[in-house]
Amino acid sequence: MTDRYTHLVNTGFTATLAKRLGLPQPAILRRFSAGDPLVPGPVLVLGPDTHDGSDSDAVAQHLLGLDLDVHRSPSTGTARWGAVVLVLTEIERVEDLSEHVLAAGSVLKQTARGARVVTLVREPQPDDAPALAAARQAVDGFTRSLAKELRGGATANGLVLAGGAAAGGEGVLAPLRWFLSARSAFVDGQLLTVGPADVPAQDDARPLEGRVAVVTGAARGIGAAIARTLARDGAAVVCVDVPAAGEHLAKVANEVRGTALQLDITADDAGERIVAHARARHGRLDVVVHNAGITRDKLLANMDAARWDSVLAVNTAAQLRINDVLLASDLFRDAPRIVSLASTSGIAGNRGQTNYGASKAGVIGMVRATSPLLADVGGTANAVAPGFIETEMTARIPFATREVARRLNSLQQGGQPVDVAEAVAFLGSPGAGAVSGQVLRVCGQNLVGA
Ligand code: NAD
Repeated sequence: MTDRYTHLVNTGFTATLAKRLGLPQPAILRRFSAGDPLVPGPVLVLGPDTHDGSDSDAVAQHLLGLDLDVHRSPSTGTARWGAVVLVLTEIERVEDLSEHVLAAGSVLKQTARGARVVTLVREPQPDDAPALAAARQAVDGFTRSLAKELRGGATANGLVLAGGAAAGGEGVLAPLRWFLSARSAFVDGQLLTVGPADVPAQDDARPLEGRVAVVTGAARGIGAAIARTLARDGAAVVCVDVPAAGEHLAKVANEVRGTALQLDITADDAGERIVAHARARHGRLDVVVHNAGITRDKLLANMDAARWDSVLAVNTAAQLRINDVLLASDLFRDAPRIVSLASTSGIAGNRGQTNYGASKAGVIGMVRATSPLLADVGGTANAVAPGFIETEMTARIPFATREVARRLNSLQQGGQPVDVAEAVAFLGSPGAGAVSGQVLRVCGQNLVGA
């Protein structure tokens, strides 16, 4: 559901009034709907060296293979552009940027609603020549700044190719397709690092076909949306939540044709019970989504041990204990995926949330250190950090605070649970095999904090 203000400024008389008064005009975001095209118009692929074998050529060829209307230079009279892909992997000096970024700029007034800009660049290395490192790092600042300029639900994000990742390999192309798609609606101003891992080509319509996923905290909110989205993408889903949420849990599990496991994730044997359930009911285990989380907000001066300890126990310690069991299990060895819910509070901090901020920053540290432990079985561990998401939790925030929190991002609105779920589903998919140890923010590019 779009919030009421966003609805009003997109409808008839109130839309005109809002425009005249100069009020923020959040767009209705382009979200995934089966059968819709990947992008809402022609795609402009820009970058140095359009010769055969260049990175921009490899990307353009791939997009052509998806039946998209691909152009290599800005032409007038084209329908509204659906996307601009800036392949900047071969730049060597900041002076190399202007031709390509200005060509991109020349079409930005003719983009479709929910258009996408995606930049590709190589990761700067400590032993790069300073001019090369400057050129590569410049793309980071460019992408984040452009994201703040776009309107109409358009977003700008970037892929940073590390360790010799090939621009034309599926490890890069699957994340590129995801950024271009409607599935990344509330992801804006983000740079995702992609490594050189070999990744099999995937069917984006059902990337999780034949895979078994566990979602903790699946009875409601973001967890229920994750269960639905993973099931939509083809996974058999094990829905986990506390016994007190049993009725809601059963409903979600039935709806997604999965199974329910009533379990408090802080139990000593939680990991063993999850693995045993997956083995007995589904015969395999591929994706574990650590979504269950709690808040117990208080200023630190008023914090008691119960509030501090319970938040760290549920949000961080339980995930660590379950991961230990997963890493030791023979069931979790076929390109497994761990996706943990962090929060922008764990990146930028939040008043009244020292316990929660610590717990979510802990999750970020955990996925970074878990990532190499899964590498030899083709596995990954990543975190998704939501910003302001419209859930029961955020609906309880007092009106004025809530209104400020939901507007202070580049898309001028709160995200939906499904936006977080799409990011989780992407990181859980085989195509995200070259993305590991990363934090993907789903926050509409929060303007507050980092
Ligand atoms: P929610 O409170 O609506 O749902 C959390 C679910 O987790 C509930 O069903 C609850 O019963 C379950 N749970 C709690 N403790 C558990 C335990 N010990 N064992 C098993 N299940 C347990 O929360 P939400 O808003 O849907 O958030 C989901 C995740 O996203 C959390 O990790 C949260 O910290 C994170 N997050 C949410 C937002 C937001 O804006 N809503 C922002 C950033 C991060």
